[in-house]
Amino acid sequence: MECLDQGIQFIKGVGPKTAEKLSSLGITTVRDMFYHFPREYDDRRKSKQISQLINGEKITVFGNLAGSPKLLRLRSKKTILSASIKDSTGMLNITFFNRPYLKEQLLAGSRVMVNGVVKKTVNGFEMINPILELVDDVYDGNNVIVPIYPSTFGLKQNQIVKIQRYLINNILCSIKDYIPKEIRAKNKLCDLAFALENIHFPKSSKEYKVAKYRLVFEEFFLLQISLIKLKRDISNNKISSPLISDEGLKELRESLSFNLTKAQDVTLNEIVADMKKSTPMNRLVQGDVGSGKTIIAIFAMLKCYFNNHQASMMAPTEILAEQHYETVSKFLEPFGVNVVLLTGSTKRSIRKKHIEGIANGSVDIVIGTHAIIQDGVNFNKLALVITDEQHRFGVRQRASFETKGNSPHVIVMTATPIPRTLALVLYGDLDISIIDELPPGRKPILTTHTPFSERQTSYDFIKKQVQLGRQAYVVCPLVEESEKIDVVSAVELADELLCTFKDYRVGLLHGKMKSKEKEEIMREFKNHKIDVLVSTTVIEVGVDVSNATVMLIENAERFGLAQLHQLRGRVGRGSSKSYCILICQNKTAVAKERMSIMTEVNDGFVIAEKDLEMRGTGEFFGVRQHGLPELKIANIFEHRKIMKKAEEQIKDLVREDEYLKLDKYPELREKLNANLHKFLSC
Ligand code: ADP
Ligand code: MG
Repeated sequence: MECLDQGIQFIKGVGPKTAEKLSSLGITTVRDMFYHFPREYDDRRKSKQISQLINGEKITVFGNLAGSPKLLRLRSKKTILSASIKDSTGMLNITFFNRPYLKEQLLAGSRVMVNGVVKKTVNGFEMINPILELVDDVYDGNNVIVPIYPSTFGLKQNQIVKIQRYLINNILCSIKDYIPKEIRAKNKLCDLAFALENIHFPKSSKEYKVAKYRLVFEEFFLLQISLIKLKRDISNNKISSPLISDEGLKELRESLSFNLTKAQDVTLNEIVADMKKSTPMNRLVQGDVGSGKTIIAIFAMLKCYFNNHQASMMAPTEILAEQHYETVSKFLEPFGVNVVLLTGSTKRSIRKKHIEGIANGSVDIVIGTHAIIQDGVNFNKLALVITDEQHRFGVRQRASFETKGNSPHVIVMTATPIPRTLALVLYGDLDISIIDELPPGRKPILTTHTPFSERQTSYDFIKKQVQLGRQAYVVCPLVEESEKIDVVSAVELADELLCTFKDYRVGLLHGKMKSKEKEEIMREFKNHKIDVLVSTTVIEVGVDVSNATVMLIENAERFGLAQLHQLRGRVGRGSSKSYCILICQNKTAVAKERMSIMTEVNDGFVIAEKDLEMRGTGEFFGVRQHGLPELKIANIFEHRKIMKKAEEQIKDLVREDEYLKLDKYPELREKLNANLHKFLSC
């Protein structure tokens, strides 16, 4: 066993309690601990001698405690602890309010470091409630860029720092670097030991940068090489039979009440051609909300049916799965296709029947949620898996879905425009179809922007629409979305909204609810048992409520442009004119520009590009939502250049070694296999 795989509980100084807390942070091995990177650093290098202090500056001072601290207990249970520290140039008084326990720690003569704001008083310099560290404890004297780690309740920074320190001093020397020397040299990467030491305890910003560069590169490199290896392995498997017959496609086309758009046509042809090949398709279909992706999926599934194979489509929520089930049945039952729905709430007896049918091949098409990828569901001859609104699924879930068939074709459908580079990281080496055209005759959604102070008029507008028999969404950032909403407290806002619309049927939907409850509320809204749905962004994913005509978004400045566009796409699904109202409290130029983009632009791709331009960093419509294997240190946007480098390096490797057997680099091979194992086993 490599020492990195050792359980963290075996490390000196980690007791069972600490181990438990670490495990709640996802840390169970030494490796996890090493890769638990600081969230930020406190650069305390700018320390000064006491005689040089200036009133009002925030600064670090080192010194020794002059005598024991004095503790004063006030009547109201409050305490004041005062002490002095001295260096060779002078004396600094420090005062702590309500931290009596510090008295025990502050022994006369011990060396400390304080960081705080200096105040000049009649009694000399003073710091009130500074950050205080016992120097011998954490620092080795010359190391004063202090790491600050993501932590959890009851786990002190100090403890984490100590464990990291211990690991660096005792274990670092025995770890292997799985990035081969040649590759390191070519890409100017430092070795792993240097990188780990300096990401945790950088001696200067220069070392820190070198370390970070290496770790960012490593993260992209490992992720992409894993995805590419996965893809190679899959396409290396020939599937049993190419799906040659085009039977039924023409009839389906003729049965539609509309013509496919040109973009739909192109996409469909690409898919049909791919399915005729003997290697599995891996295709991302991107199309703005309402561009008509579902019907394309239906064509592809019908093609499987007429080629005597099964197809399956997975949606992220039950209600969306039900909606697809209805649509798919409507179009395909006339052809004699047996379509079933399989979700978490499918009754046991029915589930059993479906599972039998799926296994013996009497079921042709399965629509469902992640219930489809559970154990016990075995397909007879699955040839195609489609995932809708993919960004809610993780790469792992997708991989396990794909293993259900004998290397089936894969279509991933998403309304979120994904730049090519991002798509590559997310999905590996895949082909992309873009439906960049909406069906003709769509009424654009009228988007307006209302200042917070005038929001009452918008509420009145909603009331009018409801009186006309329409429904409305009100999206606001509720509790779970941020700890620091400074403007209006989210709960207050929800209460206010509930009060404003008290004469109507109001439903509340938020992420803290159980998914069953959420689905129930969504269903009631869909069946018009609710007029106004107050919600967090959980409604984002494609449920069709054609009677909903207003989407009002509170604190619109808090959302990304692409996300606003997604939310807006929830309305305008019926024949009535639809509206999107953005309420914005922020008056900055950037906020204004963002609002005006939303009111002027209706094209999701243009909006996504703008979003990327304006935000640049990882904020981009919540990269996390894409189910990306967690990137710990790399950022797709900030580190694009490094990502490119990693990509090029992998291309070089593939040129030499097409299937990435990596015989030349056994350590990398081992690491890669472990990675793939992790992907596929979750
Ligand atoms: P999305 O791409 O957002 O998933 P859907 O597939 O739900 O969009 O399609 C939205 C609506 O447009 C559906 O009611 C669908 O039947 C309809 N539709 C799809 N293609 C066309 C078309 N070419 N012309 C007119 N309506 C279409
Ligand atoms: Mg859809």
